[in-house]
Amino acid sequence: MSRYWSELARGLSPYVPGEQPQIPGLVKLNTNESPFGPSPQAIEAVRSAAADTLRLYPDPQSTRLRETLADYHGVAPEQVFVGNGSDEVLAHAFAALLKQPRPLLFPDVTYSFYPVYCRLLGVDHETVPLDGEMRIRIDDYLGRGGAIVIANPNAPTGVALSRAQIERLVSERADAPVVIDEAYVDFGAQTAIPLIRDHPNLLVVQTLSKSRALAGLRVGYAIGDEALIEALTRVKDSFNSYPLGRPAQAGAVAAIQDEAYFQQTRSAIITNRERLTTALARLGFEVLPSSANFVFARHPRHTGQALSAALRERAVLVRHFSGPRVSDFIRITVGSEAELDRLTGALTAFLASPSPK
Ligand SMILES: *Cc1c(COP(=O)(O)O)cnc(C)c1O
Repeated sequence: MSRYWSELARGLSPYVPGEQPQIPGLVKLNTNESPFGPSPQAIEAVRSAAADTLRLYPDPQSTRLRETLADYHGVAPEQVFVGNGSDEVLAHAFAALLKQPRPLLFPDVTYSFYPVYCRLLGVDHETVPLDGEMRIRIDDYLGRGGAIVIANPNAPTGVALSRAQIERLVSERADAPVVIDEAYVDFGAQTAIPLIRDHPNLLVVQTLSKSRALAGLRVGYAIGDEALIEALTRVKDSFNSYPLGRPAQAGAVAAIQDEAYFQQTRSAIITNRERLTTALARLGFEVLPSSANFVFARHPRHTGQALSAALRERAVLVRHFSGPRVSDFIRITVGSEAELDRLTGALTAFLASPSPK
């Protein structure tokens, strides 16, 4: 803190991302990155974009990328908005749609960036508790509050709602914008995109960071009614007209077009997730049913803190969150088979050593 800070800077409580340490031999299962590289075609497209043309500003509307995404999802390009990672897209959605006279609703256990945006943008909000099994209950969002943001599958639980449940939410709450953050949808949940046609209050946000293995490129997008997209564009053009550089636009187009690679890598991750879930259950863990590229698990004899510290000592990094309902759990990214063997090996060694809760 310094006397030069604005009142805004003083009042912030920034999001703390999972660490990115440089430890040799580290098994990094803490930030839900893909164990596989991006599509080779995407890498090639980024390479080709690293050319003399970088002296020119990129297309501010990312037209080709928006057309590619529109094609892929069966919507019109006017229903697609792209940004520098879905974090940026979400921030614009908070400013353009979710800040309403009545408080924004989101689950008490969810992506911890949501309260951070609320603080930055002055969005009044209320959290809605998950049920006893860490599930979102749609009924709790009806007949109250203003706008709604829900991650589906939810983070960090991995638990998904069905499309029918989302449909019920957007129909019953047609009075308010509803944002569904589908960062992990490709790992086994149903996307709400087909509902957009009949529900002008629904905005679906996706990212290329997880299922397309492009966290380093920073590309996210939103799909919704043209009027919602127009609101996002107004905010974007009041903030940064060129959020996506030429390499990002080119790489994202190629990644979306490489369907074969996408299907192959995401199904490998789903297979590894099931394997990991079985291995953890065998070690005595309770594992929440995950539709994501991570699992959220707890052990009856050890705190989440103790488990993550023990793993760290064995050069395996997982994510632990403090807070009333989550501190018993650890969140483990679904890695490669070799990484998951290292994880289960380290857990087996720790659980065999005497150190009760
Ligand atoms: C990872 C993640 C995002 C953001 O990803 P970007 O890399 O900014 O696209 C958004 N929402 C949730 C729930 C996430 O886990």
